Amino acid sequence: MTCPCIVPKPNRCIVTDAAVFADVRNIRKEVDTSLADGEYTVQLTESGSVITAADEKGFFYAKQTLRQLNAVYGDKIPCMVIQDAPAFAHRGFMLDSVRHMQSIDEIKTLIDAAAVFKFNVFHWHLSDDQGFRFESETFPELIEQSSVRPSSDFGDVHDSNPYGGYYTKAQMREIVQYCHDRFITVIPEFDLPGHTSAVLHAKPELSCTGEAVKIKTCGGVFPDILCGGKDEVYDFLYALLDEVCDVFPDEYIHIGGDEAPKKHWQTCVHCQKKMKELHFTDEEQLQGYMTCRMAEHLGKKGRKVICWNETLASDVLPQDLIIQNWMDRKKQCTPFANKGGKVIYSDYYHYYTDYPYDMTPVKKTYSADPFAQDLFPAAYQNIVGVETPIWTEHVRDFSRLCYVTWPRFAAVSETGWTKKENKDYNDFKRRMIALLPLLSEIGIQAAPPEDWDPNPVKRLFGTATFFMHTVNKEMIVNFLKGNKD
Ligand SMILES: [Zn+2]
Repeated sequence: MTCPCIVPKPNRCIVTDAAVFADVRNIRKEVDTSLADGEYTVQLTESGSVITAADEKGFFYAKQTLRQLNAVYGDKIPCMVIQDAPAFAHRGFMLDSVRHMQSIDEIKTLIDAAAVFKFNVFHWHLSDDQGFRFESETFPELIEQSSVRPSSDFGDVHDSNPYGGYYTKAQMREIVQYCHDRFITVIPEFDLPGHTSAVLHAKPELSCTGEAVKIKTCGGVFPDILCGGKDEVYDFLYALLDEVCDVFPDEYIHIGGDEAPKKHWQTCVHCQKKMKELHFTDEEQLQGYMTCRMAEHLGKKGRKVICWNETLASDVLPQDLIIQNWMDRKKQCTPFANKGGKVIYSDYYHYYTDYPYDMTPVKKTYSADPFAQDLFPAAYQNIVGVETPIWTEHVRDFSRLCYVTWPRFAAVSETGWTKKENKDYNDFKRRMIALLPLLSEIGIQAAPPEDWDPNPVKRLFGTATFFMHTVNKEMIVNFLKGNKD
């Protein structure tokens, strides 16, 4: 018998008798402390069934496997033995709740589905140029002035209505608890020093020039970034991160570090004075210094930082830094990992779920290899895992969000969990199709299988249409202005 319909595929699964159905009415739990983190076994026999794990996390994964088997086979589950353990420690999904927000119930539905597919990290993107979503009591002006943008101009649809909102501390704590109940840790992200137009809109004194900054209504990369030289910027970030740590208790805090143009820093007296004091010759070093100071502050609270790969442009870096590799143009992640640095694989082309299936078919996502070609074998252990982000500039509602994220999330979950030698795309597709009713029961309407792997002609037209619809006049004007003034 082929592998039963389980995603991610278990690393060892033997159907002992396909014609005999197991008794799964009473499942016995046995603790075996010799099993590794997340490891579990399932033994389904005619006379009774046993699940074994070292702790509750392992039992939780065993139960997700049983839930999938139950959804596909009903009460006629064949007798089988499963021995299973995750390939990677970090198996994450990222949600952008800035460009478009999701309700707490919708986020819980996404978490439910992720848990069934054995994800263990929820990365929550809560601040950006187009809004600030974290209820700050220390800086209420961030909510009063920066949580609502006057209009939205993402791509071909212009919405002249104000858009926004924020998550209360009680709601965010509810999400943290919901994740913890499913053995998922939560990594909040506060992107700095770039992608901070919304923060600077309420607090222009934190920019280099002190001039008014507009909250942005379209996508892109903007030159309005936090000043790297003013002491008050560091004091603000410490106080904000203290509040973040109070709501989000898990070890890692994501502090962004991507797409931060240094145009203002190059002419700012505060930035240049700080660079002179520190004997820096490059503005990227000043960003590295900022990262170090945040890491040092968070380190005192037992926290560690994750940053996007642009952070590696600086030779000034904190220890214990984890890099999330989304677009490593300068090829800095592999040497970083070869020297012992930890890296999360999030390659934009393969793992960004806002790209249409016409551009990146599910097969491409599934086949992406987290290990770079020139990685030393000894450094394989430094690739800590995989993470698939959903950016929401063009994802305005939950049904669209479900369509673009599933089954792509499942393809990433299998790369994160299943050993490479056990993976096979056609087999994944067969198992995944069988699990679509379970996703539907959870509340997720995935993309239909005929959309997963379009033919080359459809891919070409679909990709061209996507780019035509995602770029608009505002973005082009902003792009040109951003490079000029
Ligand atoms: Zn400055």
